Amino acid sequence: MHELAIAQSIVEVVMTRARECGATHVKLVRLQIGEASGIMTDSLAFSFEMLTSLDPLLDGTQLLIESIPHVAHCGACAQEFAIINLVPLCPICQQWSGDIISGTELQIQEMEIETALSVMEE
Ligand SMILES: [Zn+2]
Repeated sequence: MHELAIAQSIVEVVMTRARECGATHVKLVRLQIGEASGIMTDSLAFSFEMLTSLDPLLDGTQLLIESIPHVAHCGACAQEFAIINLVPLCPICQQWSGDIISGTELQIQEMEIETALSVMEE
């Protein structure tokens, strides 16, 4: 299951960053996932929830997934256009374009953490 492996690597990155920041709990993780990334977001969210429930640092972390449209740039007429069904054909001049602007990304956009105030007393 591809999405489980992806969720695992996201959880690892989030945990590492949360520890670096001295977090006691991660409240929210916001992901950007491109339409053409091939990732099933429902499946990813399910895997994420399962993995985060295993660690108190992440238990109950809210996952927000922002879908990024698949967009290309046409070199012939300089038009930006939405790619439909993975076919990068410019609707203006009917040229094929290999210049993909967005839609294939998978990234952690943002995360919100809680920190303990007592950390400063050391
Ligand atoms: Zn064009």
